[in-house]
Amino acid sequence: MELEARDPQDRRPLGRAVLDPATRPPRVRLKRQEPDGPVEEDLFLEWEGVLDDSARLRGCPVCGGRSLFRQRSLPALTPFVLVLAFAGVVLALLGHADDPRVLFGLGVLLTLDVGVLFFARTRLVCYRCRSRFGRVPIARQHRPWDAAESARAEHQAGAITSSPEAATAPDPEDAEQT
Ligand SMILES: [Zn+2]
Repeated sequence: MELEARDPQDRRPLGRAVLDPATRPPRVRLKRQEPDGPVEEDLFLEWEGVLDDSARLRGCPVCGGRSLFRQRSLPALTPFVLVLAFAGVVLALLGHADDPRVLFGLGVLLTLDVGVLFFARTRLVCYRCRSRFGRVPIARQHRPWDAAESARAEHQAGAITSSPEAATAPDPEDAEQT
């Protein structure tokens, strides 16, 4: 598993580490780049109730949050491929589709597209602290980001008070009383 840990208080990036969730390591060595150079720092993980019966992640070992959402990470190549695809469609519409050079270009494009799909990865993100977990098995219960679930997770996370989302989000119970 590739861990990209964030601070549970202010969601500041803490660093990255690679670990095996099956071994439930109580702490990992995080590495991150600072302006003065690389920094290493220990992070303690809490595995109680975080893994399901198949040792898949269902909670966050960094902050103890109980909900994760899935997020698809696309390689940086994607916008470039989209522009090329648009150019190819325009050329085809202008009647150049039987030009061997256009056909060759479209063939290259198709290969790039398949490559992008191949390298796109789904990762899990914690609703509370926004720590990311890559290269993990994704359970069916993990859904994409959801506003209601996010509000619930932040409401439970009393510790997060400095994040702008938590500070500006109105408390539903307060809103009903006024
Ligand atoms: Zn978390």
